[in-house]
Amino acid sequence: MLIVLQQDVSKEAQERVLARVRELGFTPHAIEGAGRTAIGITGNKGAIDPGNFRLLEGVSDCIPVTVPYKLVSREVRHQDTIVNVAGVAVGGRELIVMAGPCAVESEQQILSCARGVAASGANILRGGAYKPRTSPYDFQGMKEKGLELLSLARAETGLKVVTEVKDTETLPAVAASADLIQIGARNMQNFSLLEAVGDLRQPVLLKRGMSATIKELLMAAEYIASRGNQQIILCERGIRTFETMTRNTLDLNAIPMLKSHSHLPVVVDPSHGIGIRSGVLPMARAAIAAGADGLIIEVHPDPDRALSDGMQSLTLPMFHELMREVSRIAEAMGRSMLPGPVPR
Ligand code: PEP
Ligand code: MN
Repeated sequence: MLIVLQQDVSKEAQERVLARVRELGFTPHAIEGAGRTAIGITGNKGAIDPGNFRLLEGVSDCIPVTVPYKLVSREVRHQDTIVNVAGVAVGGRELIVMAGPCAVESEQQILSCARGVAASGANILRGGAYKPRTSPYDFQGMKEKGLELLSLARAETGLKVVTEVKDTETLPAVAASADLIQIGARNMQNFSLLEAVGDLRQPVLLKRGMSATIKELLMAAEYIASRGNQQIILCERGIRTFETMTRNTLDLNAIPMLKSHSHLPVVVDPSHGIGIRSGVLPMARAAIAAGADGLIIEVHPDPDRALSDGMQSLTLPMFHELMREVSRIAEAMGRSMLPGPVPR
């Protein structure tokens, strides 16, 4: 149920509505919209009788929410949510680009990569410090040292930082270093981790699980939102299908579906989506043409020697070309690229 408040509702009347929701044993969530506030309700098992609220002062309407992903749904909030990543607005007219290596490997590697992607106009530096790898014998990331190097690269370039959190144990360290906390595909349904980032007030990049439906992705986002953190960016990164020629199948369908069913911003990861370097640029163009709010791209100064995901990592010149081509698609879509940090 969504309780829509009158535009001129007083603070006291609003408080009384919130108190009534709590009194019934449910959790109220204030949802600020353009010119009006609404209150989403969670914690109920079945439908709630609107009679509980209709006659309260300041209430203009009670609307049933028909989908299980309530707080993240368009039904509850019509306007697009803009996620603020340390001053970089994600989800507005301007498209944002996150770029960097799959994993932080050394000071020299991350700094040269950060300088390169910043020079081409990226907004946010990506780089895994804690890597969830299929094989226990593969490079697991530089861990704390990787986080330090990301902070160094941020200080030097002005790029914001996105990095993956692998488990609740390392969440405090990751949250202290990251401007945007990434939940990887393998953790999309790690409900303890979703709840833990939901308790923070920091933006989260939530990647779709490799075998998760669009609805399951929205339900995972709902776990985070239900704890009070609505600063969520959804990420389509390819799903498992019968196709073996590519690493995954980038589900472009997910873009219009997520945009119409949710108010959250959607970014696309064509690197993991196709898994082949030469395919990343065309899929990046397609993602923007399909309505994505931004991209996350793997870039490495020397991809053939990368410790992870070298096959799908772009060289710096390839990334430069991608930015050039994507900005032309953005223009055709009536959007533009958010300028990167001013060089210092
Ligand atoms: C990554 O971003 O490097 C990564 C591990 O992605 P995913 O969780 O989508 O596989
Ligand atoms: Mn990767």
